[in-house]
Amino acid sequence: MSSRYDILFQPIQIGPVTAPNRFYQVPHCNGFGWRMPQGMAAMRGMKAEGGWGVVCTEETEIHYTSDLSPYFEGRIWDDDDISTWQLMTEAVHKHGALAGIELTYNSHDAANLYSRAAAFAPRSMGITGGGGYEPGQARAATKDDLKQVRKWHRNAAIRAKRAGFDIIYCYAAHNMTLAFHLLSKDNDRSDEYGGSLENRVRFFRELIEDTKEAVGDKCAVAVRFAVDELLGSEGMQHDGEAKEIVSMLAELPDLWDVNISAWKNDSITSRFGKEGHQEKYISFVKQLTTKPVVGVGRYTSPDSMVSAIERGVMDLIGAARPSIADPFLPNKIREGRQEDIRECIGCNICVTGDTRFVPIRCTQNPTMGEEFRRDWHPEIIAPKKSEDEVLIVGAGPAGLEAARALGQRGYRVILTDAKREAGGRVLLESQLPNLIEWRRVIDWRLTQIQKLENVFFYPSSKVSMQDALEAGAPHIILATGSTWRRDGVGRSISHPLQGNGNIFTPDDLMNGNLPTGKVLIFDDDHYYMGGVLAELLATNGCEVTLMTPAPTISAWTEYTLEQDRIYKRLLSLNVTLLPHHVLASFSPTTATVTHAITFAESTLACDAIVMVTDRIPNDSLYHELKPALADGRLKSLRIIGDAEAPNIIAQAVFSGHLAAREFDEVINPDVTPFKVERVKI
Ligand code: ADP
Ligand code: SF4
Repeated sequence: MSSRYDILFQPIQIGPVTAPNRFYQVPHCNGFGWRMPQGMAAMRGMKAEGGWGVVCTEETEIHYTSDLSPYFEGRIWDDDDISTWQLMTEAVHKHGALAGIELTYNSHDAANLYSRAAAFAPRSMGITGGGGYEPGQARAATKDDLKQVRKWHRNAAIRAKRAGFDIIYCYAAHNMTLAFHLLSKDNDRSDEYGGSLENRVRFFRELIEDTKEAVGDKCAVAVRFAVDELLGSEGMQHDGEAKEIVSMLAELPDLWDVNISAWKNDSITSRFGKEGHQEKYISFVKQLTTKPVVGVGRYTSPDSMVSAIERGVMDLIGAARPSIADPFLPNKIREGRQEDIRECIGCNICVTGDTRFVPIRCTQNPTMGEEFRRDWHPEIIAPKKSEDEVLIVGAGPAGLEAARALGQRGYRVILTDAKREAGGRVLLESQLPNLIEWRRVIDWRLTQIQKLENVFFYPSSKVSMQDALEAGAPHIILATGSTWRRDGVGRSISHPLQGNGNIFTPDDLMNGNLPTGKVLIFDDDHYYMGGVLAELLATNGCEVTLMTPAPTISAWTEYTLEQDRIYKRLLSLNVTLLPHHVLASFSPTTATVTHAITFAESTLACDAIVMVTDRIPNDSLYHELKPALADGRLKSLRIIGDAEAPNIIAQAVFSGHLAAREFDEVINPDVTPFKVERVKI
């Protein structure tokens, strides 16, 4: 049957290979890297199973002098690394997809903390990789060094071909690679690799030519090139030199994968950028080359994908995050099941796998990163093992996911919530400035639940202990959430603050009870909440100070690549930023604060204080029901999500999913419940 999405399923020739469709999983980090190859390979294989026509690796180090530790990326330093990659290419080929590898030689972005080698850079310059400001500098690469790098790249390409890759990348993007730094205006070399644009392009051209010559008979050679750095004339510009570079190299590679730099721009969160946000930068490329072009822009809607192709912006729909949130996105479109697509919410929790050195996690897709170690499949779950009924109290992200997944298993589920609408914290938080896409966490789950005849949702139903027992279900899952503390207790303050002041919590603000006048936000939570409430209050006419004991504002948002933009937005709203300070005491018109390090005390005028500190788990119902478990009136009782331990939304969804998977199973708490990738000695 033909559909308006047929164009997405056309095969595309890429040099000597053919992609089966236009769904292209561009390279993305995942926190597994070389350290956990089985986890990495299973995750990539799942994308191919879900219909992605091309599945790529993360950035893959070609040599020990470009060691990206402490980050765990790919490695193809030696022949010994080939078998790791065969795991992936076999997993991808099994489902008819092409496998691509992003070979990288980073410049001063490689801290070489493990190899202890000196990195090669266009000039001797301070190291920027390794998570920040590693002491030390890279060495200026001589012409012989550049020759060596070309040789290493060529050797890595040959190894990649042996490992079974179909597409081999030459990488000049994300403001990280040697090729990109040589292209840039920062390149102050006076030899034939510096100066004129032709000279600065030389190294990248040579890499592409070498790779084509080495493996081009069987493998397509792709380039990844960042056409803009959003730095104006200080950086690469899509309407400046990037245009000339694409013109100069137009027909040389077999494929152009184009994006914007740095990573925080490429993977902008939904709070700051919407679907298709890169189009205005990348759309010129197709006019300059006849080779296929891939672009990204967090496309989750098949209509937007078709439109991007029909408008001539790109030939293949590149995706990292949409493929993480839903590895089966292509198959769902092909099967006419658009409403089943689990749309990415643009929160960048996936990115924190890389930035926190742990396997990738996803808010929308709790199975992401669990494919190998727990054998979790995003679409398939074991059928029910009994006819028992389950009562779930609380329809926030944890309760919704538990109900959906238990329902998918075939259990009869009664889901209740005290509120008129499902969603819990997500319902409230998605109404904060620019977080509306987070509603997708609720929408997808409600859509799925509505399709399940065995799941019954009762809104406006506050459940007491008696209600819970009288409902008659032998199993109860409590997903009753948590409540923000009002007394200041958190990471920095261990005893409730006493005093007479106008104290608010995030719950108050999200329920429409807003302070006025001069407001001090005390952020000891360190993720988005403090900053987003500052934005809310500032746009509502308050004079806002955002204070935190941490050295920086919204410290953890550094890991989701948002921190710079949060600063920019808050400063543009005239929010006063006060890092390194702790709340000591308050009155109705003042707050006394101490410096986190010197303990120097000062007094601020304020009409209200918003405490963004710890949360209190809503677990009283759990404790009330425990005796019923002990005396056999209940077969099982489980507490999940924020009610068990307040955390990020991704953790609540995961907790709900885990509860559904483990339901009716005997769990031995003394045994690690997942496979661990150990080095065998
Ligand atoms: P989580 O993030 O763990 O899913 P949330 O705070 O988002 O937690 O959601 C908890 C939900 O539980 C809220 O929608 C709240 O209204 C509901 N809830 C809490 N206690 C009860 C109760 N006793 N009966 C019914 N619903 C409850
Ligand atoms: Fe999208 Fe968030 Fe999942 Fe990343 S973690 S894929 S941004 S929903």
